[in-house]
Amino acid sequence: MDAQTNPEAYEQLALYIDGEFVAADGRREQDVVNPATGVAFARLPHASRQDLDRALAAADRAFQSWRHTSPMERSAILRRVAGLIRERAPAIARNITLDQGKPLAEALQEVSSCAEHAEWHAEECRRIYGRVIPPRSESVRQMVIRQPIGVCAAFTPWNFPFNQALRKAAAALGAGCTLVLKGPEDSPSAVVALARIFHDAGLPPGCLNVVWGVPAEVSGHLIASPIVRKISFTGSTAVGKSLAALAGAQMKRMTMELGGHSPVLVFDDADVEPAARFLARTKTRNAGQVCMAPSRFFVHDKAYDRFLDAFTGVYAGLRVGDGLAPQTQMGPLAHDRRVEAMQSLVADARARGAAVLCGGDRLAGAGNFFAPTVVANAPDDSRLMTEEPFGPVVPVTRFGSTDEVLARANALPYGLASYVFTNSLATAHHVSNRLEAGMVTINHFGLALAETPLGGVKDSGMGSEGGTETFDGYLVTKFVSESSRVP
Ligand code: NAD
Repeated sequence: MDAQTNPEAYEQLALYIDGEFVAADGRREQDVVNPATGVAFARLPHASRQDLDRALAAADRAFQSWRHTSPMERSAILRRVAGLIRERAPAIARNITLDQGKPLAEALQEVSSCAEHAEWHAEECRRIYGRVIPPRSESVRQMVIRQPIGVCAAFTPWNFPFNQALRKAAAALGAGCTLVLKGPEDSPSAVVALARIFHDAGLPPGCLNVVWGVPAEVSGHLIASPIVRKISFTGSTAVGKSLAALAGAQMKRMTMELGGHSPVLVFDDADVEPAARFLARTKTRNAGQVCMAPSRFFVHDKAYDRFLDAFTGVYAGLRVGDGLAPQTQMGPLAHDRRVEAMQSLVADARARGAAVLCGGDRLAGAGNFFAPTVVANAPDDSRLMTEEPFGPVVPVTRFGSTDEVLARANALPYGLASYVFTNSLATAHHVSNRLEAGMVTINHFGLALAETPLGGVKDSGMGSEGGTETFDGYLVTKFVSESSRVP
């Protein structure tokens, strides 16, 4: 029996304000739709203006005490969160597959890996060190201390609904900040489950609040509030820029994890076929709806045909279907907007002379399924090569020289991740120094671990999540100079 026949099995959707789970109770609601079937099976309550103000007031009140808690106390709660994530991962994962679509094994991996993220923040928050600056006089002591910035507003996306919310919550709370978080309305179960975990781990009321609504209305209201001192957003560059403008007008700190169009550089000295097969499997993840997905493939002339054969061999044979079915390798796209976007990118590439080697259209029947698609020789100025695809459509083109491919890889305003395949240390050094990206990974996929910083440059955002950088965006620097006597 699944959630469509047994709604009890799905997360009880709610707002979470001041330590209480708040049901619809006459509030506006929206449908939650299973992307594999197109069937609406749950209702999500929207926050009213009063709810948003209550969440802000609760976060403000809670900050007055949470900011002074010992890091040991915050660390202990984050450790309990990690334990509860491990315990509840199977149920949370199943609900993510129902409302987001990714295969169950991927959903489970997303949730389980978050236990590590919680633990990393539990460890690092005990090391939010300041420093002592040597004074010019013996009677003086000069210190730099780092303090929580205040109440934060976070806006998290639907592609990794648990991971993205957990990372922002753990960073804000670990630093001593409090938080109002708007999760993804399309795929809401994971964020409600996360709120229950923090609640059960003993987080005091008001430290974390979860709200839902019309995204622009909620973000506009929260960012305009003088209570909010910092915003954190993961999503598209276009929305990120509009939120950044709102925050900038009030000099509010921001962390922005935005879109990308990550270049893949495959040199002729690489292990070409294994690289192609590895990349095809990597691209399959979450049906390509990953901000750092490999997405513009540049393959050296001498390796091009071998690469395309091996890549298409894996990609065209993927088993696409409902994420709950054990044999499924790639699920549906999260909503119909993505299917329409794929169709229009492929149509533009075709019109500009590119060849569609496999796939190319939505799959017949219910649900938001799009065929794994490989497009050869899309021109560099086609939409597929310039707009973030965020789906299972892969453009592959040739290059002749290192200088040429670097210029083409760096030509877009994006700068999130980049991938290099080569067996030459000299090439690896040369291109990793010159790629304009926040992350470069060579001969594998080495990104998004708890201990490594994740973030982009240029239009792909500002600030990092994870790594020892994870609290930087949530802290302010205060300089204190004390003298043992009045001069
Ligand atoms: P979208 O731009 O409409 O929405 C992206 C996300 O931002 C969603 O979670 C949405 O709820 C939220 N959002 C939209 N407007 C908002 C606002 N005014 N205030 C606060 N939040 C807002 O696009 P979409 O069709 O849902 O997703 C596709 C695009 O989103 C992709 O092209 C990709 O660039 C981007 N995206 C990026 C990531 C990432 O990890 N960087 C994640 C999800 C989506």
